[in-house]
Amino acid sequence: MINRKSRDEIKRMRHAGHIVALVHKKMKEVLEPGISTRELDAIAMNVIKENKAIPTFLGYNGFPGCICTSINDMVVHGIPSDKVIVKEGDIIAIDVGATYGGLVGDSAWSYAVGEITEDKKRLMRVTEESLMAGISKMRVGNVLDDISGAIEDVANREHLGIVRQYGGHGVGHSMHEDPFLFNYRVGDKTQLKSGMVIAIEPMLNLGGDEVMVLDDNWGVVTKDGKPSAHFEHTVLCTDDEPVMLTTLME
Ligand code: MG
Ligand code: MG
Repeated sequence: MINRKSRDEIKRMRHAGHIVALVHKKMKEVLEPGISTRELDAIAMNVIKENKAIPTFLGYNGFPGCICTSINDMVVHGIPSDKVIVKEGDIIAIDVGATYGGLVGDSAWSYAVGEITEDKKRLMRVTEESLMAGISKMRVGNVLDDISGAIEDVANREHLGIVRQYGGHGVGHSMHEDPFLFNYRVGDKTQLKSGMVIAIEPMLNLGGDEVMVLDDNWGVVTKDGKPSAHFEHTVLCTDDEPVMLTTLME
């Protein structure tokens, strides 16, 4: 069943989303060649705690960090580590969740470290564009498949691989609620209604669609070793424009 959030729940989700956005702002400031993903995790943890929120990912199914750090050919779910050092030319997807007042904000963003190749720039630009295309369909009168299709069309136009095994999701009191949102058309005619909140999160690859899970049972990488990008916002459906909840509040 898909929950529709009350005004009070939305208020708390907006606050959680603001904290998530603060983490991303900080990540952008501190990302530079030489920093380890474990250090990034510690900095993110500080921002979340300073703002009296709970790091949603920490301990989620046993995940050992409060952010996921996925570099280059890693798609999602990278475990922060002292041994993983960010390098010039990398792209790194940072995914973060914060729980505030019992409600969750969830957002991922891919960042360039120094100068990156034109291919990586295009991958990042188009994946962000596909997210925005998906968000624009989060409207009363549309169905879930309209969001999926908008993402798929942008990916196909640029011949990027679409990760099939992972996708967006309802979010609220739990990080993962109904519905599951595919990043390509599956014919899901579920009606969008005001008060629904969905984390929309395309993961696109410079190469093919295929991915596999590493031996640590978390990190997901592309099978062909080509780079992948990930952008995500938690988005509220209203009677008017879609509202991104994981942005900085004025
Ligand atoms: Mg996320
Ligand atoms: Mg998510």
